Amino acid sequence: MSHITYEKTIEIRDQYDVIVAGAGPAGICAAVAAARQGAKVALVERYGVVGGNLTVGFVGPILGMVGKGTMRDELVKLLEVPENDMIGETGRAHDFEHAKYVLSEFVNHENIHVYLQSAIYDVVMKNHSVQGVLVSAKGELFALTAPVVIDATGDGDVAYLAGEETLKGRDDGLMQPVTLEFTLDGVDEQNGIICIGDVDDVKLNGERFLDYCKRCTQEGKLPGHLAAVRLHPTVHPGQRQVNTTQANGVDTTKVEEIFSADLQLRRQIQLLTSFVRENLPGYENCRYTASGATTGVRETRRVMGEYIITAEELAAGARFKDVIVHNAEFIVDIHNPAGPGQAEASIQYVKPYDLPYRCFIPKTIDNLMVAGRCISGTHRAHASYRVMSICMAMGEAVGIAAALCARQGCTPRSLDVNMLQKTMTKAGIQLFD
Ligand SMILES: Cc1cc2nc3c(=O)[nH]c(=O)nc-3n(C[C@H](O)[C@H](O)[C@H](O)COP(=O)(O)OP(=O)(O)OC[C@H]3O[C@@H](n4cnc5c(N)ncnc54)[C@H](O)[C@@H]3O)c2cc1C
Repeated sequence: MSHITYEKTIEIRDQYDVIVAGAGPAGICAAVAAARQGAKVALVERYGVVGGNLTVGFVGPILGMVGKGTMRDELVKLLEVPENDMIGETGRAHDFEHAKYVLSEFVNHENIHVYLQSAIYDVVMKNHSVQGVLVSAKGELFALTAPVVIDATGDGDVAYLAGEETLKGRDDGLMQPVTLEFTLDGVDEQNGIICIGDVDDVKLNGERFLDYCKRCTQEGKLPGHLAAVRLHPTVHPGQRQVNTTQANGVDTTKVEEIFSADLQLRRQIQLLTSFVRENLPGYENCRYTASGATTGVRETRRVMGEYIITAEELAAGARFKDVIVHNAEFIVDIHNPAGPGQAEASIQYVKPYDLPYRCFIPKTIDNLMVAGRCISGTHRAHASYRVMSICMAMGEAVGIAAALCARQGCTPRSLDVNMLQKTMTKAGIQLFD
């Protein structure tokens, strides 16, 4: 491969107490939590609207549970969705257009500068700290600086660019498949089936619906890897949120793999729409109305931190002295990295567990924290804590921690966790039983 060496002196556009990279469920909560603690915050997002998978990813319903009093409760209320249970049986996907507006209002805080259509493409390091993040926005390149940076990019972009150790997928490197979610409107609610996922026993004409789908794959009506047709209800009667398309073996941190995956998924949407119209009672007159603006990414980099949490700990309901997310709960939900259905043909249940502060502190970089799906855990543990309720609670906790670090002039590694927990408790967040 040939190279070009490129040097440029760029403007430091502004200086902050906290920079939050990425405005998904974790990033928006991190930014608002830090701002509520009085920090001056930059929230930097590569797309043209905030929300991440909550908006552009077309992902819903908001799954998972966390302890009482977190921003997750505030957002569920703002998004006007009913309370969910642990696996989503009572879940309804939110309205994605409404979410774009509501979440924009949510981050519209006097202490937060929101940079949209602004991708972080590199970092400048000094010793073991991120001195500045480099942003590319419509032909402009500029730097932002802050004593504390939060990587909430989902992909761990900042940590990766800063040289932190990251891991992807399971031991053979394969990650969970990518999916493009879409909505169908015009479903007859009286007759149109709902199927929330692989644990659902809902029947179609007396046969378990998911067995029916499998039979359809054997009869050639559906491709084999689309055997689990998940049809979630939404807040709108007559609408279904379809979480079924699937492309395996895709690494979306490699740009050359993205378009072909996206096209493959968009072809599957056409096929699935015809399938449900032709085969499912109540779906005869439904219409494909919208899809995510970007391929939905379940899994990429995990940033290795001071502690690496495992699925065994989640299953046992682990407790930690340095807890900052309490009573997190969601099944270990591994969409098969190598084929159809769930990996190892099953899901694993967990007990409400804690996430310790150390999972949010990268091993070697002094002023960086992570939040959201890229925190420090194993491939299997990630498959539980990656859901949006838990990511929101993570973001809030890390946002408060970052604001405290900026105020006290200490690094995240040296922050007094006791004081962080006291501040969180004072904000109404439950951390202990
Ligand atoms: C198909 C699919 C179905 C799912 N189903 C559910 C479900 O039903 N319920 C549920 O709760 N969870 C579900 N999840 C999981 C959940 O959506 C994600 O794990 C969660 O959104 C992660 O939150 P996050 O804030 O860490 O990352 P994201 O939501 O991915 O947000 C990251 C943000 O960072 C931005 N960003 C990335 N890189 C950069 C950069 N270099 N510079 C600037 N900005 C950047 C992105 O544009 C994005 O806005 C699903 C995920 C997928 C893909």
